[in-house]
Amino acid sequence: MADQTYETILYQTPAPGIARIVMNRPEARNAQNLTMTYDLNAAFDRAVADEAIKVIIVAGSDPHFSSGHDLRPGGRNQAGIDFPALGTWGGFEEGGAHGRMAREQEIYLQITRRWRNLAKPTIAEIQGRCIAGGLMIAWACDLIIASDDASFCDPVVTMGVCGVEWFAHPWELGARKAKEFLFTADTWSSQEAHRLGMVNHVVPRADLPAFTLALAQKIATKPAFALKTTKEAVNRATDAQGQPEAIEHAFALHQLCHAHNQMMFGMAVDPGGLSPAVKGKAPTGG
Ligand code: ZN
Repeated sequence: MADQTYETILYQTPAPGIARIVMNRPEARNAQNLTMTYDLNAAFDRAVADEAIKVIIVAGSDPHFSSGHDLRPGGRNQAGIDFPALGTWGGFEEGGAHGRMAREQEIYLQITRRWRNLAKPTIAEIQGRCIAGGLMIAWACDLIIASDDASFCDPVVTMGVCGVEWFAHPWELGARKAKEFLFTADTWSSQEAHRLGMVNHVVPRADLPAFTLALAQKIATKPAFALKTTKEAVNRATDAQGQPEAIEHAFALHQLCHAHNQMMFGMAVDPGGLSPAVKGKAPTGG
């Protein structure tokens, strides 16, 4: 069932009509490096192109769904974009704010929007921790199923930046709770996320894959075009509320914060908010 053509993910078909894409860097808590970003994108494209697939599940190898973007230097993260670019922004190798904004446009903003708009239903299956960039993957999905021990956190304000690049917090949590989530950088339980409407269902950890698959199979019995158009209609309703403009605005402020930190500290994030493992290594993300 597993496909070996991807370096960082598994592509599974656990039941007819269902694709299950599994982030598979458990040794790095499924941190999303550049390879994983483009592996995920290729897997999404594959699932969308396969007419037999009706619903796409996005999961992470145990024990955690995702620890966010991989901030550690090294490998292709440092070399800029060496995958075929999806966007048209260009300038990935430029210095200063130019290159950073170009890279974050490509690998964070535009690619997340692309996944959010995939023309098939997507379900995030979340256990353990879901941090920062992990939220972006979860929020790009149509439904979120979380285990009872799952937790959620965006600590990016602590790192001197105004939240992750896909700034959907006010829609996911409501404006007032979004502010608390961001200001405090606290870790919130799946029960709290469910109460606020961010999570569809909370289930026991042992039941998570089976529950998610059963939900996917129920959805997969519906006509494909009705599912596609229903997703489009709900997404357009959110768009009509101004979400795209709000996300673009927050992204510009996010880039301003990176530029500010670069001027103040010589790195894109405030080193006061970094873990000891990353501190002093001039991280590229945040
Ligand atoms: Zn950033």
